Amino acid sequence: MSEKKKNTFETTCCYCGTGCGILASVTKNGKVDVEGNPDHAVNKGMLCSKGMNLHYTVNDRSDRLLYPQMRFNKNMPLQRVSWDNALDRTAAVFKTFIDKYGPDSVAFYVSGQCLTEEYYVINKLIKGFIGSNNIDTNSRLCMSSAVVGYKMALGEDSVPVCYDDIEHADCFFVTGANPAWCHPIIWRRVEAHKAANPNVKIIVVDPRKTDSCSVADIHLQINPGTDVTLNNAIGRLLIENGRINSEFLKNNTEGFERYKEQVFERTVAEAASICGVSLNDIKRTAAYIGAAKGFLTMWTMGLNQSAIGVNKNLSLINLNLITGHIGKPGSGPFSLTGQPNAMGGREVGGLSNLLPAHRNLNNPLHRKEIQEFWGGAAISEKPGLTATEMFEALENGSLKAIWIICTNPLVSLPDVRQAERALKKAKFVVVQEISNKPETLAYADVILPAAAWLEKEGTMTNSERRISHLAKVLEPVGEALPDREIICRFAQKMGFSGFDFKNDADVYEEHAALTSGTSIDVSGLNYELIKGLKTVQWPFPKDSIQTESKRLFEDHRFLTPSKKAIIHSVGDAIASEQPDDNFPLILTTGRTRDQWHTMSKTGKVNKLKQHLAKALLEIHPDDAASLQIKDGDIVSVNSRRGEVQIKASLTNALKRGVVFLPMHWGKVLNSDLNRANNLTNNLVDPVSKEPDFKFCAVKVSKYSKP
Ligand code: SF4
Repeated sequence: MSEKKKNTFETTCCYCGTGCGILASVTKNGKVDVEGNPDHAVNKGMLCSKGMNLHYTVNDRSDRLLYPQMRFNKNMPLQRVSWDNALDRTAAVFKTFIDKYGPDSVAFYVSGQCLTEEYYVINKLIKGFIGSNNIDTNSRLCMSSAVVGYKMALGEDSVPVCYDDIEHADCFFVTGANPAWCHPIIWRRVEAHKAANPNVKIIVVDPRKTDSCSVADIHLQINPGTDVTLNNAIGRLLIENGRINSEFLKNNTEGFERYKEQVFERTVAEAASICGVSLNDIKRTAAYIGAAKGFLTMWTMGLNQSAIGVNKNLSLINLNLITGHIGKPGSGPFSLTGQPNAMGGREVGGLSNLLPAHRNLNNPLHRKEIQEFWGGAAISEKPGLTATEMFEALENGSLKAIWIICTNPLVSLPDVRQAERALKKAKFVVVQEISNKPETLAYADVILPAAAWLEKEGTMTNSERRISHLAKVLEPVGEALPDREIICRFAQKMGFSGFDFKNDADVYEEHAALTSGTSIDVSGLNYELIKGLKTVQWPFPKDSIQTESKRLFEDHRFLTPSKKAIIHSVGDAIASEQPDDNFPLILTTGRTRDQWHTMSKTGKVNKLKQHLAKALLEIHPDDAASLQIKDGDIVSVNSRRGEVQIKASLTNALKRGVVFLPMHWGKVLNSDLNRANNLTNNLVDPVSKEPDFKFCAVKVSKYSKP
């Protein structure tokens, strides 16, 4: 056990991908207390508002699911059953569908909050034994465009930087992200660095004026969707100003000449007009980047959640490549992961198009390696269904059964009415959950109560490839079981071997062995070592000695076949649903400071509601005036897919023509008309399949009772 002192345990925050260390202690009356771990490499004792209030979510067990439930047919109510009953029935139904319709008739939809060990066993079960690649995760909704961007540019999904690069950077280009709210502990480090070094420049690119802009030297308030135009214009200026790294380009990259042609197709003045920002601000931005010794690009959902998310990522990574700002202190493209273990899920290959340890599904040798290691069925070469595809397949009947773990798709998926129709039509739905609140439970044929954070052991990997151990602090409530154990029990009910792990440490060691010889090799790690080192970044092959933070590609040899990074020239056409006379405004969605995802945890904490108690529609005062809307009025927001009825909040933080809704709220007082995803669109990026949450056409009108 990683027991710090009696009844105090080291663990990791279960919210964002920053990965802050937490000390959790159990008081005499059995309640849990939390504080930041002062010895943790990431946060050195600091926590943000969400992390600081985690004990409330743990100590309030009133919403917890306590025992398995099942309905014997769609018309019957749910009944309490034993674990054996629930898993026997689920195994029987899965076997029936697989025999009749093939392995692709079943699917698992999981979460970036699952621990690495959980991801590992679910992935092993569906890919290695059921024989389908139908596992996808809500991480598809937040970082899959970054995964593709890294793979295309650097050869693999390998984040090259570490948090220690912050103190070495003198120019930050923060785009499509509001880290002041969404990655607060990372942002405090950036702010402190700037406060100590006033020459450090911060450029924030965002259609909204967010809290992150308060320390920015330049806020480029671009029109939604115009990121590629902006990045290409900056690229052009860097070339024109002679601020590129010719030696790096010649020796370590491919594709620069084509890129140069592409970015010179548009003048910077044209770009400024398309983006809706001043020419002078773009020039100042290029000058700051050109003068930087350390240039760190940081981004999240504003780039990723887009119908052109991959192009946005590539156009940004290009700025690091043409300036040679990668693989050295203070420099590199840094995708900040939204969820605590989005990175761990990618390591074990827990998405429908991935295999463990960055192996490729379309590589027959990689498939063979995995099959031989697991000793199960042949790995299918057909990519599985992605998040939105699963729900489309449920609606059209080609997918029969879905098993949803640790995620709430009826709030978080785009065009959520479609997801509702899909679950209504599904032949069989299993929901594995900690809480009795998620909307999906109403559609479940089987409900499996899962152990929550602190009730199970495992590991997670944060945004900078740092692996942390999470201690088990409490016994699970009621009959709840750890997710890993539920899946292993189910696999055994299905008659599969290789799931008789003694404990989570055993699962980790199997995962680690499978990474041996790959670029993410952690074969030198086991639980005792991770706990002893406190945290550790990958790679960590056998016999490693690691003493400090790691960045990748310091030798400028990338993971592409040529060992050179690839500069992809990308066009700037916007593929999103465009506003028109009927739907004249652009809706963009996002997070608020104190809520997490669909609020099944943070929604229980009154303190966290003080910042923003209810969802509000943010709208520019001029747009509001033209619609005769006053601050606080109830408005109807309509898109081609649905409606939201909500209070308006007038703010100059938005550009005219753009409105904003937070994504967290689901049903409130039995009304689901607060749900932003009633409106959004399931248009996805053609390569990453990540949805376009940041851009759809809506109209807003003052609400009038029907
Ligand atoms: Fe948790 Fe992220 Fe806040 Fe750190 S910054 S305490 S990981 S929510």
